[in-house]
Amino acid sequence: MQKHILIAKDIVKKYGNHTALNHVNIEIIEGSIFGLLGPNGAGKTTLMRIINQIIAPDSGRLIFDGNPLKREDIAKIGYLPEERGLYKKMKVGEQALYLAKLKGMPHHEAIEKLKYWFSRLDILDWWHKKVEELSKGMAQKVQFVVTVIHNPKLLIFDEPFSGFDPINAAIIRNEILELSKNGTTIIFSTHRMESVEEICNHIALINNAETVLQGPIEKIKNDFRNNTFSVKLKADNLILSNNFKILDQQGNHYQIQLKENTTANDLLNELIKNEEIISFEEKIPSMEDIFIKAVKDE
Ligand code: ADP
Repeated sequence: MQKHILIAKDIVKKYGNHTALNHVNIEIIEGSIFGLLGPNGAGKTTLMRIINQIIAPDSGRLIFDGNPLKREDIAKIGYLPEERGLYKKMKVGEQALYLAKLKGMPHHEAIEKLKYWFSRLDILDWWHKKVEELSKGMAQKVQFVVTVIHNPKLLIFDEPFSGFDPINAAIIRNEILELSKNGTTIIFSTHRMESVEEICNHIALINNAETVLQGPIEKIKNDFRNNTFSVKLKADNLILSNNFKILDQQGNHYQIQLKENTTANDLLNELIKNEEIISFEEKIPSMEDIFIKAVKDE
């Protein structure tokens, strides 16, 4: 049986009259890379703050590693919030050390681990810089180190790639994948679904304070397949029989849907007879497409 590192049961959180989480249930399998996806205002940050015990839910339960979530579990969780405050006047090394010690790490171990991570990310020469000298991306790298330094079982990243250029985003992404390989459970929270969809293996879609959809990404993608094929032809004057529907055409690039009782082979056979085919593949819906459809169908 799969073990859950975190279960959130029937969580309700209101701010005044506004319901930010309306009976939300989330189950996160140990070792998974879990995408918490949804538009701005959906309730993602509220849920992450509750998991990190920064705020308390009005009702509902949280089970962490098999037991009710308790204060000390914070030592087993790493959270990189989107709003990342570092003290501007402090030196980078000094600040990182302070934050590592706040997590309960002894001085020597904190120094050793920080040096390891700073060197791994090639930022050792920032140690004596003031935080205010760092760019947004640089500060985010330091924050990343401080988030993972105590080797937590569960890591929660809010919009992790937003402040990075593509090269540094790739570096951080690889580090996160490495942590995952070593058994750490990862939660990504983002409104930019395309930024994490290929690295997550489980997702929950949140909209308007409610979970709309949840499960293994492969299953969800499979459930939302709609028999549509993306086809490129040499020519741009395709005419098809009634068995197929052309949903969209951009020049010689077509989106074609199979009608009932027809298969990809039927479509190929018909195309081969009259057309020169450049490419042919099933159009798998993106997480964005799935989200839009799931919200509409509710
Ligand atoms: P997300 O992270 O998905 O963008 P949030 O959890 O930040 O969503 O917010 C969910 C809703 O709750 C939003 O409508 C937001 O305006 C509201 N909200 C969040 N924090 C507070 C707060 N401290 N007081 C009042 N309303 C809040």
